[in-house]
Amino acid sequence: MKLSKSLYTRGIQCSKALWLKKYKKDVLSPPSEAALAVFDTGNEVGELACKLFPKGKEVVYSKDFSSMIDSTKEYIEQGVQNIYEATFMYEGILVLVDILVVKEEGVHIYEVKSSSHIKDMYIHDTSIQTYVLKKLGFNVLSSNLVHINSSYIREEYLDLYKLFTVVNISKEVDDLQKDIPDVLKNFKLYLDDKINEPNIDIGKHCKNPYVCDAKEYCWTNQRKIPEYSIFNLFNLGSKKQIELYSKGIIKIEDIPEDFDMTSNQTQALQNYKTKESYINKEKIQEFLNTLTYPIYHLDFETFQQAIPQWQGISAFMQIPFQYSLHIEQEDGSIEHKEFLAVDGIDPRKELSKKLCKDIPSDVTVLAYNMSFEQSVIKKLAANFPKKSSHLLAINENMKDLMFPFLKKYYVTPEMKGSYSIKYVLPALDKKMQESYKKLEGVQNGSQAMNAYANLSKQAEVDKKRIRKSLLRYCELDTLAMVKILNKLKKI
Ligand code: SF4
Repeated sequence: MKLSKSLYTRGIQCSKALWLKKYKKDVLSPPSEAALAVFDTGNEVGELACKLFPKGKEVVYSKDFSSMIDSTKEYIEQGVQNIYEATFMYEGILVLVDILVVKEEGVHIYEVKSSSHIKDMYIHDTSIQTYVLKKLGFNVLSSNLVHINSSYIREEYLDLYKLFTVVNISKEVDDLQKDIPDVLKNFKLYLDDKINEPNIDIGKHCKNPYVCDAKEYCWTNQRKIPEYSIFNLFNLGSKKQIELYSKGIIKIEDIPEDFDMTSNQTQALQNYKTKESYINKEKIQEFLNTLTYPIYHLDFETFQQAIPQWQGISAFMQIPFQYSLHIEQEDGSIEHKEFLAVDGIDPRKELSKKLCKDIPSDVTVLAYNMSFEQSVIKKLAANFPKKSSHLLAINENMKDLMFPFLKKYYVTPEMKGSYSIKYVLPALDKKMQESYKKLEGVQNGSQAMNAYANLSKQAEVDKKRIRKSLLRYCELDTLAMVKILNKLKKI
């Protein structure tokens, strides 16, 4: 049996996923743009973490792993203390140790993760490395995880010793060692049969800890789970989803009347089954009465950095780089304003300045799911004291367009039990929803995030095109809010 550590962790999540990767690769979905971005970030973080253990030697990647194993051996023999990507194989199990620290009395293993916290799967990942090294006769002195400390705020210079947190997980790793031979035996049992795929049902494990790349195959092709099912609607929670699924209930309309649900879920189910809408005009009017004209429809786009590039930034904090603003007057006239930061510099100061120029401190500001916009503005206020009172006033004046949908004052079957704008907009304005599909390049928030994060790496001509796409996308977001509000006004 040949197994890399990534195949091992894949098998820990699901043996069928391991089998498919080995024997039926063509059913797996290619990695998404977001997944590729995470992968790139992982590489950058990995390289930076090596500086915590300086003057080491890197084992150069090669498809021919035997040359990597030989290089590792040579480095150890030469007395190299810190080895990056140290490569070992034991009975077909191949592991690459991110950082191996070699001491006279034994070795320390360091696994680097571009995450702000420890996940169980990281312990499994480190465990198989420890297992292989121990089997090869190394005295493993400690097994460690190196991860990002998201509470560290960068000052003028990046302090690697504050950015990274090193956690000794030797005990957790040691606890898993006794289980590894059985896990491997189990994998072998499945992999020895190259014809029949393991009969493993879908469940929570398909998304946890990672969304499985065989999901389309197992869920849609094999189990015929429809696009809208008990698994993605009504915020049922995985426990209740599994309970229904185990009874053979997949379609929303098949959920029994007496199934234990919240009143909102019961109402949404009722609307879905009867194909009837529920509109509480009185409550919607109450909401509308809280808005005064002009109304400033606001939407931010943000991105994150695992390695903070600028002073005052912490890892993974939401950094706003763009906003769109539709200013709606009582007579229905509309004005559009926008901001998109220059790439490669900290966008927050310019954005704060422009935001305060564009939004007076005493007007109604409308956002959809305003807690996000408010949290971004709160951070800006903390970072730029001169603008703080104006920014906080914007927050104070903010109202949430999601409120009537969250409170179920307006429910249609097309909303499918959700109050997310992803469901509310197509239910209220199909044409508007179609406009997103016609956008070139950037069609959703995650694409916007990646497009801006990588803008500095693009050629000038591509930059112009991407900036145009970003502006068009964000503009559509606030225009969609104008349309939703109009629908509410017309009921
Ligand atoms: S989708 Fe679920 S059942 Fe299918 S291989 Fe992946 S984890 Fe296993």
